[in-house]
Amino acid sequence: MPPAHPFDDDKLREECGIFGVVGVKDAANFVALGLHALQHRGQEAGGIVTHDPELGFNSARRFGYVRDNFTSSDVMESLPGPIGIGHVRYSTAGSKGQTAIRDVQPFFGEFSMGGAAIAHNGNITNANALRRELIERGSIFQSSSDSECIIHLMARSLQRNIPERMEDALRRVEGAFSVVAMTRTKLIGVRDPLGVRPLVLGKIGDGWCLASETCALDIIGAEFLREIEPGEMVVINAQNGVESHFPFRRQPSKFCIFEHVYFSRPDSILGGRSVYETREAIGRELAKESPVEADLVCPVPDSGTPAAIGYSLESGIPYAMGIIRNQYMGRTFIEPTEQIRNMGVRLKLNVNRALIEGKRVILVDDSVVRGTTSRKIKEMILDAGAKEVHFRIASPPTAWPCFYGVDTPQREKLLAATMTEEEMTKHLAVDSLKFISLDGLYRAVGEPQGRSKDCPQYCDACFSGEYPVTPADMVEQGFKMQPAAE
Ligand code: SF4
Repeated sequence: MPPAHPFDDDKLREECGIFGVVGVKDAANFVALGLHALQHRGQEAGGIVTHDPELGFNSARRFGYVRDNFTSSDVMESLPGPIGIGHVRYSTAGSKGQTAIRDVQPFFGEFSMGGAAIAHNGNITNANALRRELIERGSIFQSSSDSECIIHLMARSLQRNIPERMEDALRRVEGAFSVVAMTRTKLIGVRDPLGVRPLVLGKIGDGWCLASETCALDIIGAEFLREIEPGEMVVINAQNGVESHFPFRRQPSKFCIFEHVYFSRPDSILGGRSVYETREAIGRELAKESPVEADLVCPVPDSGTPAAIGYSLESGIPYAMGIIRNQYMGRTFIEPTEQIRNMGVRLKLNVNRALIEGKRVILVDDSVVRGTTSRKIKEMILDAGAKEVHFRIASPPTAWPCFYGVDTPQREKLLAATMTEEEMTKHLAVDSLKFISLDGLYRAVGEPQGRSKDCPQYCDACFSGEYPVTPADMVEQGFKMQPAAE
């Protein structure tokens, strides 16, 4: 398994990407390509399940990158059939950081009416309580993953077909879930009632596909049809097409606003808008809210780039690639020994000294989590002879952990949980530090009136502390939620 690198822990990490296809020849090839396009959503491990009418279900689950595992003819020939689903993961639940192969999805269950495999993106916030109940009633868990609860709940359902059993199971589950599942002939996609995590539907030839993001449709040449709606379940059969229904109580949508800021790929489409353009709009808002006199706007690559371009366009301050990212610095490059650890961020980023020297520099980054990387980058910029360093951050202060399928440090480790903006400015020792406001972020993602106080249009719990679903397991373990506003 690739070791986690010391400077990778200063970002929130999206946990999973999911993909499924039905009605194509050699589905596994499409699934592998789709997962490859979703690799930014999870690099620890990946898995594919397919079904062939003659050879039945087959699966392969591996640690590491899709390109290293699902390209050899040995593996791909072992996954025949016209229907398949796949999953890439970074663990958020289960054995964190030291994934056991049994925790790698898709999970498979054999029911009286046939087998089914499921791949889950998100996090079940009442998984501990469900697991206890299921174990007491005789379920035998194979993994430490929260997602396995869905298979056991399905096994206990009295419904007569798999989609109905899945509905039954998901009605018991709280939290965030986008699920792609398959039976022998059907591809199933579901989003939780709040639609926290993304899921899109595409068409390829006579077949259909489901993916976490549209970039995974692009790579296989599929046409993007639409997003699966919050609370929607689609059951797709190659012959009959897409059947849609809404098995859960309708609720106002709470899509993860951080998908716009950071998680999704900039070439994906979210909510009918290009992620790249949204990020550029965030940069423009940031420039309006927090202008500063400077000579250059530089992104912290790569995720800060569109916002930096937006900031530059709005402010009229020239944009420059003041920091260059080493594109070939994979996580598997080298063991993180103490000596390597000390080199820290320099292994990944290098300052373009010729541009920076003697300049007042605005650095645009997508977020500040622990603040360790921001400090190191600032030192590199000053070492290169910058006169001033101003940080502009394309998200509000991250002061609360996410319990909906994103890996965040404990609350005490989040810089913004323990310090005010002024204290953070001193701590990072920069000339100025400004975050986009929550309202500014909402405007940039297409809500001209900003954030609705009564019913926020998105999940923004990691900024506001207002959790749209109570994280029951965490509260049971002592997590203190913000008292509700009077
Ligand atoms: S808490 Fe933050 S990262 Fe998690 S789902 Fe909500 S907005 Fe997204």
